[in-house]
Amino acid sequence: MTGPPKTASAVIIGGGVMGASTAYHLASRGLKDVLLIEREPFFGTGATGRCAGGIRYQFNTGVNIRLSNASLPMIDAFEEETGQSALVHKCGYIFVLTCEKDVEVFQKSVELQHSLGVNTEWLDGDEIQRIADPCLFPDALAGTFNADEGLADPNSIVMGYINTAQKQGVTCITDCCATEIVLKSNKISKVKTSSGEIHTECVVNTCGPWSAALGKTIGLEIPVSPLRRQWFVTDSLPALPAEFPFVIDFSQSLYFHREGSGLLSGMSNPREIIGEDQSIDPEWELEHIEAAVKRMPMLENTGIRTRQAGLYEMTPDAHPIIGSTPVDGFYLLTGFSGHGFMQGPVCGKLMAEILIDGDASTVDISMLDYNRFSENRLITEYNVV
Ligand SMILES: Cc1cc2nc3c(=O)[nH]c(=O)nc-3n(C[C@H](O)[C@H](O)[C@H](O)COP(=O)(O)OP(=O)(O)OC[C@H]3O[C@@H](n4cnc5c(N)ncnc54)[C@H](O)[C@@H]3O)c2cc1C
Repeated sequence: MTGPPKTASAVIIGGGVMGASTAYHLASRGLKDVLLIEREPFFGTGATGRCAGGIRYQFNTGVNIRLSNASLPMIDAFEEETGQSALVHKCGYIFVLTCEKDVEVFQKSVELQHSLGVNTEWLDGDEIQRIADPCLFPDALAGTFNADEGLADPNSIVMGYINTAQKQGVTCITDCCATEIVLKSNKISKVKTSSGEIHTECVVNTCGPWSAALGKTIGLEIPVSPLRRQWFVTDSLPALPAEFPFVIDFSQSLYFHREGSGLLSGMSNPREIIGEDQSIDPEWELEHIEAAVKRMPMLENTGIRTRQAGLYEMTPDAHPIIGSTPVDGFYLLTGFSGHGFMQGPVCGKLMAEILIDGDASTVDISMLDYNRFSENRLITEYNVV
């Protein structure tokens, strides 16, 4: 294998959706000599390859809704742009609310979504039960439904961006781990990797759940922590309706959506602790199955076809960090806290705007800066599952 080039105008470290989208958008803007490195043998095997594929507008902060408003149409137009289908399936998303305290918050979120042009419907408990069938929600107080939301394929998006970026001149290499970043007077000077050194003045950290480790090599604290999440897919369920939506039992952080002829279900373990373990936790899987069967009794007689565990890249306010840092030439595009796949397309575009124009213009992301943590300007997002 040949090593990376000796110099690059920008080195993007991490080949998940954020790195791939940044590489593509930098090339589309005409930047030459861009390099993307990924330490695994394949692109997109980190959080992106383990994600549930959900794409939605339903968030609770203006900035997340605006990011979706810009990103989801890019996923719709992905095939036109890259020649690769993103396998979009608009099955709709339902948030089911069974706790009084969530009802008020979601009512305000829906108002905010409407004010930003998102057509989420407010439904009563009976309507929710009808749409979520064959899930059982006798305790549903109310809920929200948006038919423009659904699923897309993470691998198709990563490889669509990487293949197109390569055609536009970006060098994209796997099996290349960034081991250290070297500074000269607080400026990026080179990246040391497992297969050689690269001289550059610009590094974009798209290492997802592992972003903080890269920051440590230059003494920069990055408040992104890995947190395990897992899901399973059942054997075929012939009785599952073809148009079964993405259903989220919000108070339990339990979700279901169709996956091929079976059903994918995930549930967030509230006792999970920060760490890089990506193995399946069998005890949690049992609790999860029990909760899932209560909501969907048809699961009792089916087997599990496949299971997956991956890492959310959590920040203290569940919002990403996008932009420059106190180190000259070191940029962050990380910390998406469980919803980065859907925001990947627009966020790579925003990173290209920051590097080429000096500022992001497609969406106002000024509040997603690195300094908000030290300056006590955290943002709170309620709709993280
Ligand atoms: C179980 C699960 C379900 C999810 N469901 C959804 C969903 O339904 N919808 C949604 O929008 N989001 C979802 N997410 C979140 C989403 O997957 C992430 O937010 C997104 O994929 C983050 O992309 P990324 O490119 O930042 O990180 P990653 O995809 O993790 O990419 C980072 C890459 O950096 C590489 N790397 C790390 N360190 C180095 C180094 N030193 N040198 C070289 N390479 C390095 C890693 O190998 C990795 O490939 C889910 C996540 C999980 C875990």
